Amino acid sequence: MTTAAIIVAAGRGTRLGGDRPKQFRELGGKAMICRTLEAFDRIDGIGPVVVVVHPYDESLYRASVPDWADRPPVVHGGATRQASVLAGLERLVSEKPEIVLIHDGARPFVSAQLIARVEKAAKDAGSAIPVVPVTDTVKEVDGADNVTGSPDRTLLRAAQTPQGFAFEAILTAHRRAARDGDTAFTDDASVAAWAGLSTVTVAGDVANTKITTERDLMLAEAILGGPETKWETRVGQGFDVHRFTDGTGVRLCGVDISHDRSLEGHSDADVAMHALTDALYGALAEGDIGRHFPPSDPQWKGAPSRIFLEHACRLAGARGRIVAVDVTIICEVPKIGPHAAAMQRTLSKIMGLAVDRISIKATTSEGLGFTGRREGIAAMATATVAVRTQHAEPEHGADT
Ligand code: MG
Repeated sequence: MTTAAIIVAAGRGTRLGGDRPKQFRELGGKAMICRTLEAFDRIDGIGPVVVVVHPYDESLYRASVPDWADRPPVVHGGATRQASVLAGLERLVSEKPEIVLIHDGARPFVSAQLIARVEKAAKDAGSAIPVVPVTDTVKEVDGADNVTGSPDRTLLRAAQTPQGFAFEAILTAHRRAARDGDTAFTDDASVAAWAGLSTVTVAGDVANTKITTERDLMLAEAILGGPETKWETRVGQGFDVHRFTDGTGVRLCGVDISHDRSLEGHSDADVAMHALTDALYGALAEGDIGRHFPPSDPQWKGAPSRIFLEHACRLAGARGRIVAVDVTIICEVPKIGPHAAAMQRTLSKIMGLAVDRISIKATTSEGLGFTGRREGIAAMATATVAVRTQHAEPEHGADT
């Protein structure tokens, strides 16, 4: 009577940004996958444990879990989570476990008590999952994102992992689903339900969170309180100028403002958003817009500037988080004040940053210079970015 475990770590999603899949990112000084495996390794009576990783990530896995004599063996995953789980199940066939626990590699905070609850319920009922109450009211929407219904929240639960199953039953269900080409299941209880198996629930744990976003990772770091991750504050500046040309309006910080002139430029000439984007690149020492989106490349002609800003925000998100930005627009006309709040809201949506972290200011240049002569608009911006430092900085003056 044995219980095996499959840790699914084959996703290559880069929602967290960065150069490695989230399960191999560092969390309090060690790789997330290492913490997840330790949670299972601490429990007597669970084994074997297999880890499913993408073939590209096998060396990353070996580097992430370096010192274990009995480091769990690797199985190569498939194109979907479901295919990866099936690969793990097939690897366990020769072991003939009674129960298998299937767990997300990106849930490193799973407790021994939770694992034990799921294991016991799976032994009793054949199929068991941990769930937590849903605290937000859930909405159903149609294809146009309009609300079509509000399911009764008291009947809803959010499913976690590990999910536990009688091995033979879940293996059969997964094999059948794969053979029938049903590949859209997002958890194993869904595969079990599709195969006609009934599943019981046990109390999950709100701490057993799945780390998906950069914010999740930051919260996890804060919970661990590890000294290994240090933060530093970076400030970048950006400056840009576009000249007026014939036209009927300008776009500034993503907001269209009617005017008797337009701005000339290769993209949509959003001079303020360009300055802001360059400030973010500056904080990250990532050059400027021209380096990432060369003006010589015709695909950026007429491009909305938000794609530049989104790119800079993704780079910032991969390294840390944006603390605040401050934009100053310099022109005699049009008047900026009436549009500043709309600019804040627009930038907030694009950047995923609260409006109280986004400052929009404007000034004239008292009739002096090119902006004073109404020949164009200038914009300057600063960006403050908190960046993780994962490696020791070279000491000042050290020979290199
Ligand atoms: Mg520009």
